[in-house]
Amino acid sequence: MKSYNIIALITISLLFSCKPQIQIVESPPKIIEKIVEVEPEKKNPKNLILMIGDGMGLTQISAGMYSNENYTELERCPIVGLQKTHASDNLVTDSAASATAFACGAKSYNGAIGVDQDTMPVKSILHYAEQQDLPTGLVVSSTIVHATPAAFYSHNKYRKNYEEIAADLIDADVDFLVGGGKKFFDRRKMDDRNLLAELSEKQYSVSHFAEKDIEAINPSSDKNFLFLTADQDPIPVSGGRDYLLPASQKAINYLDSKSNDGFFLMIEGSQIDWGGHANLASYVVSEFLEYNEIIGHVLDFAEKDGNTLVVITADHETGGLAINPGSSMDSLTTQFTTDKHTATMVPVFAYGPGAEEFSGIYENTEIFEKMKKVFIDARVQD
Ligand SMILES: [Zn+2]
Repeated sequence: MKSYNIIALITISLLFSCKPQIQIVESPPKIIEKIVEVEPEKKNPKNLILMIGDGMGLTQISAGMYSNENYTELERCPIVGLQKTHASDNLVTDSAASATAFACGAKSYNGAIGVDQDTMPVKSILHYAEQQDLPTGLVVSSTIVHATPAAFYSHNKYRKNYEEIAADLIDADVDFLVGGGKKFFDRRKMDDRNLLAELSEKQYSVSHFAEKDIEAINPSSDKNFLFLTADQDPIPVSGGRDYLLPASQKAINYLDSKSNDGFFLMIEGSQIDWGGHANLASYVVSEFLEYNEIIGHVLDFAEKDGNTLVVITADHETGGLAINPGSSMDSLTTQFTTDKHTATMVPVFAYGPGAEEFSGIYENTEIFEKMKKVFIDARVQD
C-alpha cells in the first residue's frame, strides 16, 4: 500500500508541475501570385468649355480677387498649371499667335490667325469638333473677328484683315456666335457682299444690337445662331455692357440641347486686356469681376453635368501689372510697367474629366494637344 501511495503522489505532483505548453500553430504563408493595382477610371469629357481671359495674368486675377472679398471662382478648379506664351518670332506674344497656339497647336508669328509660321492653314480644336459633328460656339466681349475667336474658325496671314476673317464664317459652320463687329459683315470696304444676308441663307438666325436685346432671344437649336453685339468693339462693362453672362448661359443651353454627344464652346473675356493696354487697374478689375461671375456659372453647369471639362486660361499677361506695397484688400496700389503685353507665364485652371492633363508647366501649344487628346482622340478610339 505504502509504495503504491508514493508512486501515485509522484505521478500527481509530476502532472501538476508540468506547465501546459502553448502551441503556436503557424499557418502556411499565403503565396501572392499577382499584385493588381486598380487605377482610378479615367473619364473623357463629353463637353469642352474653354475660357480665355485675354491679358488675364496672375496679378490681374489677384487684383480682382482682393477686390472681391479675397475670393475668385477659379478656386473651385482642382488643377492648376502654367503655360509659356511666347510666339515663334517674339518672346512677347500677341493675341493672334497665342490663340493660334492654344486653338490649333501651332507656334506661329505675331499676327497669325490659324496659320503656321509659313502661313499654311492649321486646324483648330473647333474644326476637329465640327468634324465629329459636335456643335460649337464662340462668345466674346470683343468683335467676333478679333484675334482670339478668329483663330478658331479662320485662316489668315494677318489678324487685321477683319473683312476677310468675317467672310471665313460663311463656310466655318460655327453653330453659336456672339460678339461685336457688325460693320465687317454688312458695310464692307473690300467688296459689297452682305454677309448677314449670306449667313441667313445658310440657316443662321441672324440678329443684332440695333434690333433687340440678346436677353429677349431664345435661340432655337433648329438653326445656327449669330448675334452681333456692336457695330465695332463692344463697350466696357463699366459703360453698361451686360451681354456676356446671358450670352454664355444661352450658348450652353443651346449647345447642350443640340447634341447628345457633346459640344465645344469658347468664351472670351476680351477686355481684361484692354484695361491693361489703357493702364487702368479699375478697367482690369471690372472686366475680371464680370468674367469671374461667368466662370462661376460655367463651373455650376460643369458640376451639375459631371461630364464637362472646363479649361480657363489667358493668352498672355498685359501691362506688367504689379500690386505694390501700401495696398490693402479694399485699396490696391497698382503699377504697370508697359502698355503692351509681357512674356510672363500665365496660369491654367482646369475642372472636370480630363482636368488632370493640365497640371505642370508647358508650352501654350500643349493646351491644344491636351484638349485634343481627351476631347477628340479619346472619342475617335471609342
Ligand atoms: Zn492685347
